[in-house]
Amino acid sequence: MKIKFLTHYCAVFVLLFTATTAFSQSPPGAPSVPDTLNCNFTLDSQSNICDEEFTQSTDQVYLDSFEPVVFNVYFWEFRLADGNLDPNATPMDFEKESLDVVAALNIFYNPYNVYFKYYGINTIEDNTLYGLYNGIFNYINNYPTPSEVIVPNSFNIYVSASINYGTAPNSNPKVVISRGKFKGQEYDTLHEVGHALGLLHTHEFYTGTITGEECEHVTRDSQNSEYNANVAGDRVTDTAASSPLVQESLGFDDVDSECNYIGTGKDCDDVNQYQIFPNDVHNVMGYTYYNCKDRITVGQAIRMREAIEIDCNDKLTPAIRTDGFASLYEPYKGDYFEVGPQPAIPPLYQPGFSYNFISCDCLATNDCPLPLPYLDTGFTYNEQIGTFIHKEETNYGIITHPNHTAIRIMELEELQPWRCYDNNNRKPNGGTIIKFNDNVLNTNVTITAQDSVSINNENLINNLEPGLYNIIEQFEDGDTEEQLIIKENN
Ligand SMILES: [Zn+2]
Repeated sequence: MKIKFLTHYCAVFVLLFTATTAFSQSPPGAPSVPDTLNCNFTLDSQSNICDEEFTQSTDQVYLDSFEPVVFNVYFWEFRLADGNLDPNATPMDFEKESLDVVAALNIFYNPYNVYFKYYGINTIEDNTLYGLYNGIFNYINNYPTPSEVIVPNSFNIYVSASINYGTAPNSNPKVVISRGKFKGQEYDTLHEVGHALGLLHTHEFYTGTITGEECEHVTRDSQNSEYNANVAGDRVTDTAASSPLVQESLGFDDVDSECNYIGTGKDCDDVNQYQIFPNDVHNVMGYTYYNCKDRITVGQAIRMREAIEIDCNDKLTPAIRTDGFASLYEPYKGDYFEVGPQPAIPPLYQPGFSYNFISCDCLATNDCPLPLPYLDTGFTYNEQIGTFIHKEETNYGIITHPNHTAIRIMELEELQPWRCYDNNNRKPNGGTIIKFNDNVLNTNVTITAQDSVSINNENLINNLEPGLYNIIEQFEDGDTEEQLIIKENN
């Protein structure tokens, strides 16, 4: 049995108190770094893109009607055969950078009901692959032991050491990104994942000559005989016909440092001047400055959701979790304490979600020494008490499931929290009671040390005079747990 004793006032304090550390980091994209991403995505006439199966809709209501999907995402670091990197390779903590990308993927794609479950990291030690530029996917697809280079039920993100580019096949959950683009520039990985989810560049076929296909025309009037936005370019009608706006190697520099379009280009018919809007300059699927990239349009999001449903190459469906949201309520690392010594690593949950860990009480007589399964409702909970972790929290070590709480993942918009963890096998061996004599949090306090008998006394709270207290429990392994309570009249 756990004692329920926090009042509303106190709970608000607890939530504010734990949330203050969450907002210290600026979101990705803050520095004004020119995008030199050389995205090797090409769509040739042989590519199977199922053009005729897309609706080209730009209807937000339709977009909102798509059911949630959860993709596994697994990360591979290319290394030399001896396990090392070359001296010029960008140094990084690979797990940390992978988790940064998981967070960015979720923050960016969750609004479209697309979720990513961090599924792990590994290395591929292979001298040929390490130095490869073209043909990486071919090499991987023909690897003698596929399990050493592909996780079949997952997105596979390959982080290449020696080259500076990104690439992805169309509608196929494989992405290559170079180390320099993987580290700290999450929008480049979002771009490649966009390709893997069926999105083309906003400027695709802008010359009109790559495959003999007609370039996308400027007009957005579907009655105009020149109109082809629905079948040309990126096949999305709410992105403008456009050239690559910023791409040094191609001679384009049509965006200023404030993300304004300053170009004067015309479409490939050389008649109509481009009409470029903020959605184009800021588009993740365009070539633009890194700090400008922050969105896709409704039309692109619908194309992405339809691409997942159509699954033109039969590659995306296997990477979708069949257990859906349940996987997001599982730690990616660490262990729950059940009984005995404290595990070395606590259960860690992936970043990129806002978590509310809500006070809970298991209905079972001996409580729940391990969390209840997802969808098991055998517990009560109090929404006023808990710990909040913001989706942009960057101290990943604190994203853990506290004892006596259930988990609510805010982005999933589920009505009740899940997985009550209510373990009472761990008893404090001492502690402290701090009484706030003025019933506010100031320094006028009375401190009383507690031994193992008194701190474990079932009537500890009942025996207190009314007032505001901080009860600190001290555990054998050095851990402490604090609970702020307002004791009212019994
Ligand atoms: Zn690209």
